[in-house]
Amino acid sequence: MGKTKNLSTKKKGIKFSYPGLAGMIFLRYHPAMKKLSLLSTALFICLNLSLNLSLNISLNLASAHASSAQAKADDALALCRLPEMGVRSDVGLGFPRIGTRLRTLGDVKVTVLFVDFSDVPATQTPQQVMSIISPQAEKYYEAVSYGKLRLHFVSSYQWLRMGKSSVDYHFGRGAPFETQRSYMQEAVTRAGKSIDYSQTDALLVIANPAVKAIDWGPAFSASPGFGIRAGGREILNGATSGSDLTILGWAWFAHEFGHVMSLVDLAGPLASTQEWHTYVGDFSVMGNPAGKAHELLGWERWQLGWLADQQVQCVSGTTLQTRLTPIERRDDSDTSSKIIIVPTGKNTAIIIESRRAEGYDSGIPQSGPLVYTIDTRLSSHDGAIRLQPVDDKDTQHLQAPMKPGQTMRIGKTSISFLGSDASGDLVRVETGNGR
Ligand SMILES: [Zn+2]
Repeated sequence: MGKTKNLSTKKKGIKFSYPGLAGMIFLRYHPAMKKLSLLSTALFICLNLSLNLSLNISLNLASAHASSAQAKADDALALCRLPEMGVRSDVGLGFPRIGTRLRTLGDVKVTVLFVDFSDVPATQTPQQVMSIISPQAEKYYEAVSYGKLRLHFVSSYQWLRMGKSSVDYHFGRGAPFETQRSYMQEAVTRAGKSIDYSQTDALLVIANPAVKAIDWGPAFSASPGFGIRAGGREILNGATSGSDLTILGWAWFAHEFGHVMSLVDLAGPLASTQEWHTYVGDFSVMGNPAGKAHELLGWERWQLGWLADQQVQCVSGTTLQTRLTPIERRDDSDTSSKIIIVPTGKNTAIIIESRRAEGYDSGIPQSGPLVYTIDTRLSSHDGAIRLQPVDDKDTQHLQAPMKPGQTMRIGKTSISFLGSDASGDLVRVETGNGR
């Protein structure tokens, strides 16, 4: 793949132009980043967009649209199954989910390699470092997937000494895709042939967390042809940890593997203020991994296959009164109503779900129906999901769940919270004339 031929700035973005590729991809840099604390900066641009993916965009979408059209005839939820628009080729919130991302159902095996450097040798055992992530990460994904995803970390638990000093990898924040890819490939090479990758679904490269030169732990989400070669196979999904592992802990992994499963970054800057975390606040680990409401949103779970279709109510041009059961609660029968979706356009919808101070949301001060809007034409950092009502001054949105008796109006849609009991929140939705 050719190197960057043209590098020019355009507004706040940096434009990379690649010869022979159809598209141009923008990596955004925001001046507000300079002002952020170390904790906050750990949240930015943690998804390292492969710059080599453009060729695959049209192919993937053509296939997706064909299968989508065929399925729509029998799909009672078709109006609510908002289409994937391919704004990025690696992640997106639409249907169908991007096919090259990590499997989300059943047993998923993550091979873990541990690396250190001559200038910063490890002083802890690999097991001690792994304890930052595991078993919390497996428990988290088992909970939010309602037992449908079972993660397994597989490792020989030995430090692999990398060939260069840590600073010579130039793996700071904003490092390009190829820097991460070649770093992961070297780790595989240094691990040698003793590692069995035949069952590997994803690759996790854990750096000695004391390595300050690698401060950034982005997800790795490649297109076919641009992955990691290991044991005769190609691995397209994974992540590399940096020193931010010690700041965010297991939630770092939860967030990055959300990307690896196709989820977008829900936090981002407002055009008006450049302030971050104003789109979903603390709700969803894909918004603020250091927040108080780690549970994934209902839309994210539906997209990943963890909510069954019968748990989704698609409402258009009519009125619905139903009891939503808290999104945090597992229901092995897959019959409880979990989210209401009101389509408001081809790519947009209003979504209502119940959030309680339990599970990974135990820290939220207020329970009740949570209302948000979605737009699948937007992607990471762009506000693809926004809590309602919009309050740009509230960066955590901890008061966003509705109060009993409250009615919220968004366009032609009216949402009333009639009351709650131990089983859930009773909600009435009037959609007027529909979309
Ligand atoms: Zn991210």
